[in-house]
Amino acid sequence: MEDNYDLIFKSIENLDNITVKELKNLESLEIENIKDLLYYFPRAYDDRTNIKKIEELRGNEYVVLKVQFLTVSNPFLPSRVKMTKARATDGTGVIDVVWFQMPYLAKSLKIGDEYILIGQVKPGYNFQMTNPEFKKLTNQKEMEKGEILPIYSTTKNFTQNSLRKILKKTLINYSKYLEENIPDEIVEKYKILSRREALKQIHFPENKKYLEESKRRFAIEELLVLEMGILQNKYLGGDIFERKYNLIGNKELVKKYLKSLNFDLTNAQKKVVTEIYKELNNGIYINRLIQGDVGSGKTIVAMTLLLYIVENGYQGVIMAPTEILATQHYLSIKDDFENLGVRVELLTGSVKGKKKEKLLEDIKNGEVKLIIGTHALIEDNVEFKNLGLIVIDEQHRFGVVQRKKLRDKGILSNLLVMSATPIPRSLALSIYGDLDVSIIDELPPGRKPIKTKWINNDSDLQKVYDFIEKKLNEGRQAYFIVPLIEDSDKISAKSVEEYKSEIENVFSDKRIGILHGKMKNAEKDQVMQDFKNKKLDILLSTTVVEVGVNVPNASIITIINAERFGLSSLHQLRGRVGRGEYQSYCFLISHSDNDNTKARMRIMEKTNDGFEIAEEDLRLRKAGEIFGVKQSGISDLKFIDITQDVKTIKMVKEICIEYLNKTNGIIENKYLIKDIKDKFKETI
Ligand code: ADP
Ligand code: MG
Repeated sequence: MEDNYDLIFKSIENLDNITVKELKNLESLEIENIKDLLYYFPRAYDDRTNIKKIEELRGNEYVVLKVQFLTVSNPFLPSRVKMTKARATDGTGVIDVVWFQMPYLAKSLKIGDEYILIGQVKPGYNFQMTNPEFKKLTNQKEMEKGEILPIYSTTKNFTQNSLRKILKKTLINYSKYLEENIPDEIVEKYKILSRREALKQIHFPENKKYLEESKRRFAIEELLVLEMGILQNKYLGGDIFERKYNLIGNKELVKKYLKSLNFDLTNAQKKVVTEIYKELNNGIYINRLIQGDVGSGKTIVAMTLLLYIVENGYQGVIMAPTEILATQHYLSIKDDFENLGVRVELLTGSVKGKKKEKLLEDIKNGEVKLIIGTHALIEDNVEFKNLGLIVIDEQHRFGVVQRKKLRDKGILSNLLVMSATPIPRSLALSIYGDLDVSIIDELPPGRKPIKTKWINNDSDLQKVYDFIEKKLNEGRQAYFIVPLIEDSDKISAKSVEEYKSEIENVFSDKRIGILHGKMKNAEKDQVMQDFKNKKLDILLSTTVVEVGVNVPNASIITIINAERFGLSSLHQLRGRVGRGEYQSYCFLISHSDNDNTKARMRIMEKTNDGFEIAEEDLRLRKAGEIFGVKQSGISDLKFIDITQDVKTIKMVKEICIEYLNKTNGIIENKYLIKDIKDKFKETI
């Protein structure tokens, strides 16, 4: 049997009747052995069985359309981008299509002839498709074939038809040697399509249902290889699975605290809290990422869990990226917690001398139950009596290095990391690092979506100023964000100092506060408190307010030189408003003509959804360019879109843990073992 399985790994030269030209073509696609070939999956499908009408489109779906073109043109763009623009109809509606870097299309697409278009549809003024597959229909018979045909990435000289033929033959001759590499019990329990069947269906699907099932199978398969590898390693190292202690499970204080709030937790918050209670009670070390969009209420979740750990006899820590944020957290719970008899203290770089000595002593002897701070918590000589839970807020400011530092200090404890925005990097960590993921996928009720507008000329800017004036007179507050603090000739971005005089001019009767990184911490705190207490109408700031700051009465944010910020920063900044009952507004000021900037501004105008923005960010920047993704090897996952498939990632992780717990860390499927070895060859 084993010998036969090895046939799969033989060079493609061993294929029957393969020609030299075909071999060359296959090699140009980096296909070296028979397994590479069998696993060379279609990039798309030409599915004539399921042609959609334009009037039925909903947007954000993958479809096949049958259309005629109304117009085709190559508009002139100042950049080097070459674009072909077309408008098409199927009689029920129109759709706009663009292709990039294929200027010859304008000549070859014939107005009035019938074409099949295959690709992703996006909503817009009209529906839109970018770079769809297209095929001219020559006769009605071709239309009626009713097959789902695979479309592969190939080179110009290697036609779809010849690749399809080779694959068909190879499937017949070799798929019988392909043994199941997912353990049988998992295949059965999760009703996973068998490897051989799935392989047949992914290339030449009988119908849509089989196609979906085969995609699911390979998504699970590729994650399983990855996760089993990582988790087996950890299992044998005894890191996360070992049971260290049990909590008594008291919930008195937590209940009182939640009752004292003037709102109920959302279902999503409850779900995450309950999930983590359960884990804490199991005595398994937690290592978990909490993802939630800006304003989804991550702080309360963290505080509830910290209180829970405290009332069950342990100390808790919450670490924030800035002093402003640490202070905000401290002030938001200090009274409530102390009313419950829980001593809370703030430990930042500003705490010094005698005061600090005393504080460190009280932490060490366990009198302080909850410690809120900045990275001073890790840098300093802080010792705990019995630390039970560490929460790290706004994860993207804390790298893997700092987390490692915590561990190196010998503080092995439960760790919750809360991400600021659903950025791909955190997902990368969730697979390759060592984090599990919880998602708060719901905002508190009554939030109105923030209205966002891109402003690119001075007369609109004047209107914005008038509008802000009106809102300030109604009692609201406003943020202005600038990218830089010092004047710099090289960069045309407006600095705080320069912009200050403009703002003072425009809003001469308003109280304006300034915040930037070079100020002393005490000064920063004071300004922040004044803004919170409505002693200031306007806060002009650098990105120090980017993460976490919570002032629900502030309903307008204006971002100057918005082109200097990436999508996730813009989203994070915008998240400073829309935190209360008031309709909120975000103005993005940018005169830039750069295509990428324009794309970013439009995405911001279009959506408030951080998960969608993370996905667009990934698309604009390409996976490999995002820090951490390339190094992790995740960019070569074929089936998993790391910004989208968090649920699958989670499910597979659970499958692996369940399996390894049962088998004591031994993987009993030798074909899976081989795949894991191949996968980790380079990294181990
Ligand atoms: P983020 O997830 O961005 O850290 P925060 O935890 O700062 O968000 O919460 C944003 C705001 O929403 C805060 O003012 C908080 O009090 C409020 N909030 C949190 N949970 C709820 C809820 N379940 N119902 C109503 N308001 C809530
Ligand atoms: Mg927060």
